[in-house]
Amino acid sequence: MVTSSLPAAVHGYKLCQQCTVRQGGEPGDFEVVSGDSCFVCRGLMDRVPSMAKEALRRVRRYDYSTFSVGVSLPEGVQEREDELRSELKLKGSETIRTQAAKAVAVLMSAATRKHVDKLKPDLTVLVDFTADEVHVSSRPAFFYGRYTKPPGVSQRRELCHHCSGSGCSKCRNTGFERRPSVESELQRKLGSYSGSEKVVFTWLGSEDRESRVYPPGRPFVAEVKNPVKRRFPRRFAARFRGGQVAVSSGRTLPSKPVGLPKFRFRTKIYGVSSSKVDGGRLDELKKRFRKISVDFDRPHDRSTTKTVYRATGRAAGRRIVIDAELDGGLPVKRFVSGELVSPSVSEVLGTQVFCRSFDILGVTQLGELRF
Ligand SMILES: [Zn+2]
Ligand SMILES: [Zn+2]
Repeated sequence: MVTSSLPAAVHGYKLCQQCTVRQGGEPGDFEVVSGDSCFVCRGLMDRVPSMAKEALRRVRRYDYSTFSVGVSLPEGVQEREDELRSELKLKGSETIRTQAAKAVAVLMSAATRKHVDKLKPDLTVLVDFTADEVHVSSRPAFFYGRYTKPPGVSQRRELCHHCSGSGCSKCRNTGFERRPSVESELQRKLGSYSGSEKVVFTWLGSEDRESRVYPPGRPFVAEVKNPVKRRFPRRFAARFRGGQVAVSSGRTLPSKPVGLPKFRFRTKIYGVSSSKVDGGRLDELKKRFRKISVDFDRPHDRSTTKTVYRATGRAAGRRIVIDAELDGGLPVKRFVSGELVSPSVSEVLGTQVFCRSFDILGVTQLGELRF
């Protein structure tokens, strides 16, 4: 309401139709002029339809069901509206920013039949009236799956050995080794399904580069940033010279998990002992490691306790093969050597044993992901 009761002719502010309506009040409170001459928006509100059209063109390639619109106004627009309202003591409710955003959203909804969701939109549309541009970003997609891998493939991408990550000709300026890793291969596949250029992984544990991971595979969650498409296959494989990283049990998660479950894993350990181990000692392994707690004196961290569910071994000369089931977070090599872990395989067998390699036969989640 114009409470000052100054007639338009006296206060002299001229507004366009839409800016007039936004101030509330009576017809005749303002001299209504064309957009270009509007004191507040200087024609900005007239540009809403063309900006909405540009927004529609930009969102077309995305998979989405909800969106939200924000606007960036040229300098001075909001200030002039504030000035007008304080000068005339107006209690206009909606600001030009809100009205412009809403007007774009209404046009987009009508054209696409998609809904506005301000809290958790699939797409965030930023209409920049200053630069005359529309920017679209999408909510990350979260993908859960399990991977298997052959030996010789590390879980994470490794920094380039020539430049240590700063970028050089050997790594084509990526800063990373060009040999395949689970991370690089999954990034490539998930990127190709989604159109995303950035994927961030959370792994449920890890293994060595030389470990083979057998089905059903190790669980992971991938945060796929700014995806164009939000659907992923349940299973897929990334093939490269020397093998493949395969994913199964894939599903899209509703949102970012706040917690990952604990897990235990079954591993086959290939070790070598410093002296020959007899059958009686190997039986001892089975007897001792039957759901017992072992202490793990974590480097740079508090010491902790982990469970060894079982361990059985067979030996040929000084070579030992151990089949064990361990809590997630208990390092296999230390469990074998006894370094920072007690009791260990070496301790029970009464001779120093080293782990040469180990494979992951299965990973069991203890509980579900929490959201
Ligand atoms: Zn206006
Ligand atoms: Zn490099």
